[in-house]
Amino acid sequence: MTQPPRCLSLDQWDRRYAELCAAGMREPSYGGCLRRHVEDGDDRLLHLKMDDSPAALRLWNFLLSEEDRLREAQASGKRLVGAMKDLGTVPVMVYALDNLIAFYPDGAWWLPCIMEHGDGLLRIADSLGVDDSFCPVRAMLGAFENEAHFPIPELLVSSVGATCDDFSAIAQRLEAMGHPIFWWEIPHRRPPEPDEPSVLLPGMFRAAQSQVAFVQSELERVRRRLEEYAGKSLSDDDLSAGIHRANLVRRKLATLREIVFKAARAPLPSLEMLVAEMLAIHFCSDQYECLVVLDELIAEAGRRAVDDVGVTDEEAVRVFWVNPVADLRVMNLLEDAGGRICGTEYLFSHALDLLPQHVPPMEALARAALADPMVGSARDRAARVCRDMRAFGAEALVVSRIPGASHCAMEGPLIRDVVRRELGVPVLEIEVPTLIDTMTPTLQTRLEALVETVKRGRV
Ligand code: SF4
Repeated sequence: MTQPPRCLSLDQWDRRYAELCAAGMREPSYGGCLRRHVEDGDDRLLHLKMDDSPAALRLWNFLLSEEDRLREAQASGKRLVGAMKDLGTVPVMVYALDNLIAFYPDGAWWLPCIMEHGDGLLRIADSLGVDDSFCPVRAMLGAFENEAHFPIPELLVSSVGATCDDFSAIAQRLEAMGHPIFWWEIPHRRPPEPDEPSVLLPGMFRAAQSQVAFVQSELERVRRRLEEYAGKSLSDDDLSAGIHRANLVRRKLATLREIVFKAARAPLPSLEMLVAEMLAIHFCSDQYECLVVLDELIAEAGRRAVDDVGVTDEEAVRVFWVNPVADLRVMNLLEDAGGRICGTEYLFSHALDLLPQHVPPMEALARAALADPMVGSARDRAARVCRDMRAFGAEALVVSRIPGASHCAMEGPLIRDVVRRELGVPVLEIEVPTLIDTMTPTLQTRLEALVETVKRGRV
């Protein structure tokens, strides 16, 4: 019988870690006590509650050791590629070359939260003229300027075109700071004309064949630049093998989501599920280890589901969550309020969808890039949210806005209206700043009200 799981504070995790070590737990090279990350400045861990399993420990250590991993890769002779904005497509191409490693410098947007502003990145962005009228992705500028986080890649590749104003402005500022960027264009995904040849994209949308061909030609330019940088060719066979490996990760994430979102009691907390889903976009800089981390989470979640134990009770309200949160602590608040996650759309659902393997690899990548929820209309995004809410039996929707983010100024109300009309469920729209400390009571109350509204509607 599996012990009922608990979410632990960092102090409790110290004791749990000692117990696991005494019981003979074996860890990978990046393993260790979570406390050491606080000593490195990751102070937010002091205010999070984390799942008590060895699988979760491995997940957190994998996430929080990424900067070390990138430096080790660079020291071993591998070359780094900073992929930007497309969230999931360019890294598949990069990892098809065995001497390159891709990561997203945009991921620096979580550093001000993880380090509770001890990083000073937003202050540096302010001094560079990119103030808090922009979304927290501006933290990336600070990380390039002080070079205290990820190693600076010699090659930056960014999508442009159907991207938000914030990202365009921030990336252009980065280039003006002396970091050249290789741009490739992604057009706005439009509905095909009635008689226009079209193809089905991963996920649920169709795109005009001409748009797919255009994106493919842009990705061919990326391919040539990567070949030049790697000093070797990137064949279709290499790309097909890369797509196969990316799909292994995506299949495992689909299995994990299926187990966790459909179990009677949530076998894993919302916070760890958010971190796990993020692995899809660039495999946390180690594609093989990413598979092992996911295998352990699947095994733990599966055991708990079979034994009918979880981090929530059966009454917990099943919530679908749209947009990632700037402060990870909000995911703890949801469970404290009596909710649980049953479905997500964190801006990168196209990185979770399987890449097509029945078409030539460059076409498959072009189709995946066009399936990005952020290159289509908010109406498309709302339709996908409705479909996935039905599939996971979600009883409520939370749309969390990101401060200053141009992508969500108007889409929140639109998604809310479509979901209310189509599914008739309660919808809550909240704004989540980088640190929620002063707003915790308000957010808690609003989440509790959502939970109560759903529960009242059940009887
Ligand atoms: S506005 Fe939204 S999509 Fe654009 S960079 Fe910021 S968080 Fe990402």
